[in-house]
Parts: sequence; C-alpha cells; structure tokens
Amino acid sequence: MQLKADATIKEYQQFIKEVYGLSNDRYFSLQDMLTNVERFMTRALKGIRKGDKEKTTLNLMVSLSWFMSMMNQLHIDIEQEVWKRFPYKCSYCGSCPCVCKVQKIQTRQPVTVDENKRPKTIEEFQKMFGEMYPALGRTLDHAGVHLVEEMGEVAEAILSYRGNRNDGDFKNVILESADLMSCIMGVFNSLETNLARELSYTFENNCHVCKKAPCVCSFANIMDFKF
Ligand SMILES: [Zn+2]
Ligand SMILES: [Zn+2]
Repeated sequence: MQLKADATIKEYQQFIKEVYGLSNDRYFSLQDMLTNVERFMTRALKGIRKGDKEKTTLNLMVSLSWFMSMMNQLHIDIEQEVWKRFPYKCSYCGSCPCVCKVQKIQTRQPVTVDENKRPKTIEEFQKMFGEMYPALGRTLDHAGVHLVEEMGEVAEAILSYRGNRNDGDFKNVILESADLMSCIMGVFNSLETNLARELSYTFENNCHVCKKAPCVCSFANIMDFKF
C-alpha cells in the first residue's frame, strides 16, 4: 500500500489504521499513543532548535501518524472536525487571513461555512492553513512553541475525558485535536515543506520501517526508533 501525494486526510487516517491498527491494538493504550505523539513531537522540536529540517520533518510526520492512531482509537474523523473548526476561516476571529492579533479580537466570532471552499487533499488543507495563518507572520521557533502549547491542551483534554468519561470532555478532545492539526500544518508551512509529498515518500510502501501492512515492527524496535 502506498499513501499517494494527493491523498485526503481521511485516506491518510485509514492508511494508518490498516498499517498500524493491529500493532496498536496489541501493544498500545490511548495513553501510550499520546506519549508517542509527544515523544516524536519533542524530537521534532529538537530538530527546530538544531536547525535540522530533515529531523524536524520526519519526527513530526511520525508524531502526526501516532496522532492519527489516536484518532482511530477514539473514532474521530479528524478531517471532518478540522473542517468544522477551520472552514477556511480562523476559528476565533472568523477571518482569512486571521486578524486576531492586529484587531485584538477578544471573543470568538460566529463563523459561516461555505462547503464549496472545503479543501479535498492534505496538500489543499495545508495551503488553506497557510492562507489563514501566513508563515511570514511568525518564526519557526514561534510555530514550534505554539505546537507544544496545543499538544498540552490535547493531553489535558484526554486526561480529563479518561478520568470522567464525560461526553462534554470528549467534545473538548475533538476541538483540541483539530487545533493541534492546525499547528502541525503551521509548522510544515513555516518549514516550507509539503507535508503530503513527504508523507508519500515516507509511506511509499506500508510501514516506513518494516515495509509491511500490517506493520510487524516489534515493540522493542518501536521503542528504539530514533531519527
Ligand atoms: Zn483569528
Ligand atoms: Zn513496521
């Protein structure tokens, strides 16, 4: 199986399910997967600090793939949720490009959705985020700090949801997950890296390490994986 460069977010999520679903079910709880999202995200940050674009790109893609596994376990259609939260408009000020900062928007603005503008592919979603939140308006370091801030909010929402099993908390998990996707796209935009193309190279043949579907990497191999 190959993840094509013109894949949709939904196809990517499905690809991750087919390749890693079995191994995830056997080896990893939701908390374990969350730890792996964080583990590779912080490695990506190390890449940012060291000015190593390749390290940042690969680790952030691996982090994102763990995140897709989490979305699969929670049965969240993340493409749909990202579109609901970011319908070609900033989820807070309702503008594209976002004017939160310049107009000092203090309250969330109502947003109308034009389904005709909905991006189809991963690449189109990345482009949409680039138009809403132009990379020129921030540094790569800033994008990295924002990314980890959102990661913390996802972790907090999951901790709360798994503690109380409350449906309201689950809605927060969904919203925070969409926000995290936005920040991940933001870092790729700041890196001037085409995420869809990089994913298609990495996942040109099933699991990017063992090349099998389902993945047959041992738990020890997964724990040792470093780039
Ligand atoms: Zn805004
Ligand atoms: Zn594998």
